Order: sequence, then C-alpha cells, then structure tokens
Amino acid sequence: MPDTVFPPRPTPLVPVTGGDMFPVARIFCVGRNYAAHAAEMGHAVDREAPFYFTKSAHAVLLSGNDMPYPPRTNDLHHEMELVVAIGAAARGVQQEDALKVVFGYSCGVDMTRRDLQAAAKDKRRPWDTGKDFENAAILGPLTPAADVADITASTIALTVNGVTRQTASIADMVWSITEIIADLSTLYTLMPGDLIMTGTPAGVGPVVAGDVLHGTIDGLMPVSTRIV
Ligand code: MN
Repeated sequence: MPDTVFPPRPTPLVPVTGGDMFPVARIFCVGRNYAAHAAEMGHAVDREAPFYFTKSAHAVLLSGNDMPYPPRTNDLHHEMELVVAIGAAARGVQQEDALKVVFGYSCGVDMTRRDLQAAAKDKRRPWDTGKDFENAAILGPLTPAADVADITASTIALTVNGVTRQTASIADMVWSITEIIADLSTLYTLMPGDLIMTGTPAGVGPVVAGDVLHGTIDGLMPVSTRIV
C-alpha cells in the first residue's frame, strides 16, 4: 500500500448515550421545514417536496465546547433542530420502513452566517459559505432510537443566556421524519453515519461572543455551546 501524503483527518465522532461513539459521514439539512420559520424568512412553505443542503462532517462541533465566532459574518444565527442519525443503508425506502434505518436522535444547532446566506440567495448562488463552515453543526449526544419513547410530538426549544428564543413541537414539521427519510433515500443511498438535520422552528436570530446557547428536545440529551 502506498503511504498517504498526509495523515487522513479523523472521522468526527459523536457520543452515544451508553458510551459508544457514532462516526459521522454526511450531514443533510432540510430547508424551511416549519411553516412559521419559513414565514419569518419571507418564504412560503413548498409543500410539493422538501429541499436540502449539506454540511461537511468536519463542520461538527460537539456540545459542551465553545464555538469561536466565525469569520466574514456580522450576523451569526442559531437554528435549533432535531437530528436523525442513520444506522443502515437505505435506498428508495418506503415511509413505513423508514424508522428501521434510524440509529437514533440528537439535539443539534445549524449555525448559519445569515448575511452570507442572504447574499447568496439574492444572487441565486449556493448557500455553502452561509451554512457549511467550521463548527457550524453543533451536536448533542445521540440517544439510540430504542431508548426514545416517541419523538414525534416532543417540544423542541432553544434558549440564549437563559431566555427562550425558539420553542415548537416536532409535530409542527412540514415534512415528517419518515417522509424526509423516504424522500432523501430517492436522491441518495443513505448509509450508516449519515445525519439529517430536520429544519428549525421559528425564532432564529443572531448571537454574539459571550452568548450561551442551550437547546432541548423532550427525551434527548441537550445541546449547548458558548460563543467566544
Ligand atoms: Mn437549518
């Protein structure tokens, strides 16, 4: 075997309740999956089909670590989200079989350079610089699906410095967990290690250095970070 020209970057690992680690592959993100959030961003919900963008696995920041305020933005936003972790290959999976490929769930925050995303939208350019950058996918520990009673009507919430910014029900999602998995698996062969950030409810907004973010979903471990 030839040598690699530099040591491969380690695969980001997310802790699983109970002590194992979940190696992260791809991160798919659902856009505008809560009607009230779509409205606050000035959009109608597209009920014909969900749409997606992605983040690199190297955008992961584990809960409990500080997030350095990123460069080239003056409008860093929080987006609290339910994260679905895939544990089995899935291609063209039917909704009724979709939960069989779910390994577990976690709390996540889709950190967004809103000014860069808005500029990209204006110019009909990709969102990558607004969405996919270092530490932009903050993840709490994963809970195996078998240990979660029912996530579909849980409350999802995020506080900044103890003040509630976002609160909603997972039941408010435009596209359900099983609909998202079924649809995404017609576009990609989902594989173990893939994560799906399922979209954010209303109440997104800016954070600044010193702010402490704390996100919760009933039945899951919380996610937290401090902006520095
Ligand atoms: Mn999002």
